[in-house]
Amino acid sequence: MANPKSLNVRAYIGIGSNLEQPLAQVKSACKVLAAHPHITLVDTSPWYQSKAVGPGSQPDYVNGAGLLNTALAPEELLDALQAIELAHGRERSVRWGARTLDLDILLIETLTQQTPRLTVPHPRMTERNFVLQPLLDLNPTLQLPDGRHIDHLLNIIGTQDLAVIKEGH
Ligand code: ATP
Ligand code: CA
Ligand code: CA
Repeated sequence: MANPKSLNVRAYIGIGSNLEQPLAQVKSACKVLAAHPHITLVDTSPWYQSKAVGPGSQPDYVNGAGLLNTALAPEELLDALQAIELAHGRERSVRWGARTLDLDILLIETLTQQTPRLTVPHPRMTERNFVLQPLLDLNPTLQLPDGRHIDHLLNIIGTQDLAVIKEGH
C-alpha cells in the first residue's frame, strides 16, 4: 500500500530508449509518470544521445533522468515503472538488448537496499556517464548514500560519446 502523503520520498530515475523514435518514447514516459496518482514528476533533465553499451550493434540511445516525489514504497515504484515500460512495448529477450523504454530506479533518498528484485542505488550507475550527467543536471550537489559526489564520479569516467540533444524552444 502507498505511504501517506507525509511519507513522500524523493527518487531519481533513469529514463532510456533506443527503439521506435526514442525521444518520443522517453517524453511519453514522462507524461505517464506525471499522470500517476502516487507520483509527482518534479523535474526532468535534458536528453542525451549516447552509444549503446549492450551486446551486438544497436541504435544510439536517448537517455535522461527524472526527479520524482512519490508515496510509493520502493518495490511499488518498481512495479509502476515496469508497468509503464510494458505499456511502451518493452520486451525482455536479450539482456542489455535494444528497448523501447527502460526506467531504472537510481536513488531513493539515502536508501541502500539489495534484494533479488531491487538494488538501490542502481548498481551500475557509477560507470555510466549517460546516467551521471543527467543526475548532475538535476542536482549539481547530489551525493550517493555513501557520501560520494556525483560530479566527482562523472569527472572520473568523463563525458565521451555523450551529446546533449538540442531542442527548439
Ligand atoms: P541495467 O540494470 O544494467 O541497467 P537493464 O535496465 O537492461 O540493465 P532490465 O532488464 O531492465 O535491466 O532489468 C532487469 C531486472 O533488474 C528487473 O527485472 C529488476 O527486478 C531488477 N532491478 C534491480 N535493481 C533495479 C533498479 N534499481 N531499477 C530497476 N530495476 C532493477
Ligand atoms: Ca537500465
Ligand atoms: Ca531496467
